[in-house]
Amino acid sequence: MESLTLFTVRGIPLRVHFTMLLAVPYFALVIAAQLPALASAAGVDTSQLWLPPLAWGVLLAFGLFVSVALHEFGHSLVALRSGRKVHSVTLMLLGGVSHIDQLGEDSPGEQKREAVISAMGPLVSLVLALILYVLTSLARGHGDLRFLCFYLAQINLMIGLFNLLPAFPLDGGRILRALLAWRFGFDRGTKAAVTVGQCFAAGFIMFSIMSMNLILMLIAIFIFAAGSAEARLVEVRKALSGLTAGDVMHQAKRRLDAGVPVSQALESLSSADGEQVPVVQGAMYGKGGRIVGLVDLSRLERIPQKQRDAIPVGLAANHDVPTIRSGEPAGQVLELLVNRGPVVAVVDEEGTLHGLIDQQDIQNHLAA
Ligand SMILES: [Zn+2]
Repeated sequence: MESLTLFTVRGIPLRVHFTMLLAVPYFALVIAAQLPALASAAGVDTSQLWLPPLAWGVLLAFGLFVSVALHEFGHSLVALRSGRKVHSVTLMLLGGVSHIDQLGEDSPGEQKREAVISAMGPLVSLVLALILYVLTSLARGHGDLRFLCFYLAQINLMIGLFNLLPAFPLDGGRILRALLAWRFGFDRGTKAAVTVGQCFAAGFIMFSIMSMNLILMLIAIFIFAAGSAEARLVEVRKALSGLTAGDVMHQAKRRLDAGVPVSQALESLSSADGEQVPVVQGAMYGKGGRIVGLVDLSRLERIPQKQRDAIPVGLAANHDVPTIRSGEPAGQVLELLVNRGPVVAVVDEEGTLHGLIDQQDIQNHLAA
């Protein structure tokens, strides 16, 4: 993906999205340009600030993203403790995203856990803000320190309060959804929370046009789109309820034996442009076989010509294939398709390939 892993905390990688390359300089310049005004708002005279404006810009821009990261780890670490899988925390232009597996189970206990996970991020931000305000008042006479603490406190207060707005998928909206789902069920609860969120988004868009605030407009568009996607996910879950992965899958049009050299695989895939083809081991008469990975034409074409005869396709395949047992509920495929990749392999206990599921299979069941 277009992001870089900085480090991991309890197995959760902290990733930085490429849009951050724009975000840090952007915020740094905005802060630098407004430094005198910012200093006087903090009750600090510019003559008390030793660092030059641009250095302050960079420092506070990094402070902003450290604050966002702490907020996200607030969500993620609690999610981890309540038994959820956390894939990553990603920092990007519009803030942070915790990639947490949703259990998607509609029970009061689960709604409560969701509410606690959603509340923990803003709680971290607000506690940090409180500590930093105390430090600000202690740092009288130390211009630089006071300025730093004051703005980090402001940033954390803003992050905490903004995320508490009941605009799904912001944290406040998730808490609202959990409450509504607990009362009216997951489907109706989600739809109501999404509607409230989109009203907020419409308000943000009007306000962002009046105040020429580009970041707020992007956030509003994000809220609108993410809300629609979530409402749709509820529809899809409903359509798939009662079905198993085996009911939804399609048979792979072609499959490759893991021992076949890349050169030969390229020949047999020449007309399979973009198609994800399963690579299996131990197939009999073109049937069965344990899934080893997936390949597509472009993946094989990246292998240097000279090595294509020597490398077996099993080695060249992408081995990170999400799998699901054929008897498992089809709804669980959605999580895998969203978080793990465009194709999910349907297997039995021994790992034998039964079929594949992609977006098209889901579409077919919605249309049916
Ligand atoms: Zn949050």
